[in-house]
Amino acid sequence: MATKPSEHISLELKPDWDASNTEASRKFGRMNPHLPTYNRGMDASCFDDMKRYVDFSTADAQLLAELAEPLTKRIPSLVAEFYAILQSDPRAMEVFAGDTDQIDRLRQSLALWFSRLLGGEYGDAYYQKSLDIGHTHVRVNLPQYLMFTAMNVVRRSLLREIDGLDLTDRAAYRAALEKILDLELAIMNQSYHEDLMARLKTLESVRFEKRLDEARHLASLGELAASVAHEIKNPLAGISGALQVIRHGLAEKHPHREVMDEALKQINRLDAAVKDLLIYARPKPPQRGPLDLVSLVRRVIMIVRRESGLGQVKITVDAEHDSIEMIGDEAQLQQVLMNVIINAAHACGRKGTVQCRIQRIGAGARLAIVDNGVGIDPEVLPRVWEPFFTTKAKGTGLGLSICHRIITAHGGTIALESKPNEGTQVTIDFGDRNSGAGDSEKV
Ligand code: ADP
Ligand code: MG
Repeated sequence: MATKPSEHISLELKPDWDASNTEASRKFGRMNPHLPTYNRGMDASCFDDMKRYVDFSTADAQLLAELAEPLTKRIPSLVAEFYAILQSDPRAMEVFAGDTDQIDRLRQSLALWFSRLLGGEYGDAYYQKSLDIGHTHVRVNLPQYLMFTAMNVVRRSLLREIDGLDLTDRAAYRAALEKILDLELAIMNQSYHEDLMARLKTLESVRFEKRLDEARHLASLGELAASVAHEIKNPLAGISGALQVIRHGLAEKHPHREVMDEALKQINRLDAAVKDLLIYARPKPPQRGPLDLVSLVRRVIMIVRRESGLGQVKITVDAEHDSIEMIGDEAQLQQVLMNVIINAAHACGRKGTVQCRIQRIGAGARLAIVDNGVGIDPEVLPRVWEPFFTTKAKGTGLGLSICHRIITAHGGTIALESKPNEGTQVTIDFGDRNSGAGDSEKV
């Protein structure tokens, strides 16, 4: 070791000195506003468990107390030996750098620790004190390995001291010492564990708060958007009606007819976006009734072909049965199928295919919409369910979040798998097709 231990250090023991009140702990305490707090005394029973494990008895306590008398006078040299070794460790010294008084205070603290170790009282107060010391180590960022290596230094010195004493049953004294040192290690380990758990908890609650804030923000944004959408809906219908009247009055070949058609198309788009926004922000509970999933899929495909200008995309139905009866809100499920099939068709472009596979699975039904379109980048994939997330110039980004809500309210699940440049599969599972589940849940 670089520094030779001094045998002549005198120590003034101040029993009221608090190990957690070091300069470093105050410094770190100020620096970290999320410094964990601990439930003092909560784990006292844990100490009983520890003692039981190492078979620590009142006889051991007695033996340790008997060692106090011959060993107390040796404490200053044991402390000096300990710090000489510690000071040769650069990482340990990093912790104490810049605080010259601190080592002196820690020497006193270690001397007190030695006397406590041989104090003969190993109850809850002992446990709490050791736990506090452990937390101080954590707070000053003492590397965890030092807890073990430093304890080994202490162990070797104390065993050596015991070997130098004139004792009849030396093995019993050594065993008692080994037990209490292992208990000390277990407690210090516990402090690091508690600290880690407290930090995790803080982190989780910070994250939770953040998510809650985002959700609140999104909800109020949705409400605002919904009121605006509501205001737009009626005038939009009025404009559309008026344009249709004017268009009707124009001669067959009139050049303004085309302009009117384009204007009406744009109004339809606007209307669809406003509807999506209202469905998203003002969800309605499903109005359940019997329906046939296979014919619903066929009907949606017809509407998509007719209305979306996606006539070129090949859309096929692959159904194991002519009809699959189930309970659900037909209008809402139609909305889901429209969203998913239009997404698939958009992704395919002209030469792609969209397959709708329908099957019964036990009491449930499964619908898979598979396309061979552009697929979704893995980084983007988790975001597709977020409201307002879209990669399309004309998208609202509400389609999939509405689908998710509706399917969940029907007691089902919806999942999406995708590979860039290969395609995407959306799988909708209706758990029990005859229950329609989710009683009062709104979509
Ligand atoms: P929108 O269609 O208005 O963009 P959606 O919520 O329906 O909103 O979809 C969100 C995003 O998910 C789309 O912009 C697109 O990037 C991606 N997406 C959804 N379905 C598919 C699909 N079948 N293939 C490729 N991308 C898809
Ligand atoms: Mg969509």
